[in-house]
Amino acid sequence: MTSTVHETHDSTLDSSLIDTPGPKHLVLLGAGHAHVHVLQNLAESRPANLSITVIAPQPRQLYSGMVPGFVAGHYTLDQCVIPLERLLSRCGARFIPSSGIAMDADKQTVMLANGETVAYDWLSLNTGPVMDREKIEEQMPGAREHALFVRPIEAFGQLWPQVAEMGKSRAVHLAVVGAGAVGLELAMAAAHALQAPSFRPGSRVTLVTGGPAPAQNYPDGAQIRVQQALQRLRITVLADTCVGVGLGEIRLGSGARLACDAPLLAVGAQAPTWLAGSGLILDSDGFVAVNRFQQSTSHPQVFAAGDVASRVDAPHPRSGVYAVHAGPPLLANLRAALQAQALQAYSPPRRALSLLSCGERYAIAVWGGFSVEGRWVWRWKDRIDRQFVARYSH
Ligand SMILES: Cc1cc2nc3c(=O)[nH]c(=O)nc-3n(C[C@H](O)[C@H](O)[C@H](O)COP(=O)(O)OP(=O)(O)OC[C@H]3O[C@@H](n4cnc5c(N)ncnc54)[C@H](O)[C@@H]3O)c2cc1C
Repeated sequence: MTSTVHETHDSTLDSSLIDTPGPKHLVLLGAGHAHVHVLQNLAESRPANLSITVIAPQPRQLYSGMVPGFVAGHYTLDQCVIPLERLLSRCGARFIPSSGIAMDADKQTVMLANGETVAYDWLSLNTGPVMDREKIEEQMPGAREHALFVRPIEAFGQLWPQVAEMGKSRAVHLAVVGAGAVGLELAMAAAHALQAPSFRPGSRVTLVTGGPAPAQNYPDGAQIRVQQALQRLRITVLADTCVGVGLGEIRLGSGARLACDAPLLAVGAQAPTWLAGSGLILDSDGFVAVNRFQQSTSHPQVFAAGDVASRVDAPHPRSGVYAVHAGPPLLANLRAALQAQALQAYSPPRRALSLLSCGERYAIAVWGGFSVEGRWVWRWKDRIDRQFVARYSH
């Protein structure tokens, strides 16, 4: 991932900002890609009279871009992690190890899973999306009990070693449901890992695409590259839907049953349901509607970035790349808001580089309609990813 900022310099003072003297409390909810940047820079120079609270389930951020490499066996989990302790202590932030479960944007409070209610003057949201268990359970009964979900990523990172361990004592059949970038990368990573000499021979991976061919949203050339990569790893591709999950099997829309030891769900992500009662204006999918300053369109004290936010003026895909890009403008606008200065409009890039790892140390790069592949692409991705983690860890 890259973190270049594409920013216009259309500085505008939001009329709803009021310069109130006295101490201010900034709450950062979630420790996603944009917030690690905010934290690092607030550590370097923190506005006077500012207290900072960071709320996240763990004092670390598992960097999703490296998780397929972890599954493939190229990285340990610790190598994919940005520890937050140092960033937190450097900017004197209070850390609450919990999750936001509700908020009242009019009262300027966030309710947490640990029972606390936290009041804020300024709030920044970077909690990422969720896999809505209830919605998925409706579409695939049994999923909640029997499937392995890729989100929360932290939970997936803890559970994957158990699947891998199974493959050391016997051949396993893994079914990956979802053939977007995440499903593709994880299917190829798992297939690569299960072919290693330390695993029992005979393990196999099936990719259940939901109907269309894999990598449907990629240009034609890239789709062919993906199909070739799947073939090299002997991944079976089923253009079918998953309509239910049971013990040791998934049920398909065609009526067939696919025996599998581990069904892995990579079926996209949704907005956190707790936002619904927050009073914030949300987009039609339930994500926080933000303007060109990454500021809530209804509550100027609230900013949001990354997958939890939706730019109503400049819609763009939800991905880690865009979340990384949003870090510097979010920081600039939080600083400006805290000091009652002009906010800076931010234009997200119109297209982003997509780097798809293919299990082995091999990757496909897609930029618009153009694609290339090779070991050198994997080394390029590896360098970008390691640098991102190192930038905020050391
Ligand atoms: C396996 C995998 C691989 C991926 N690879 C890529 C890739 O190579 N390139 C790419 O562009 N995208 C990739 N993605 C997509 C990418 O992960 C997301 O788009 C990205 O994580 C969004 O970043 P974010 O900062 O908005 O949220 P996240 O990275 O999800 O971070 C959210 C943070 O908030 C915390 N949090 C969550 N809920 C709450 C709550 N209620 N209260 C408080 N804290 C909370 C989380 O613990 C986490 O620390 C991948 C996704 C997966 C699952």
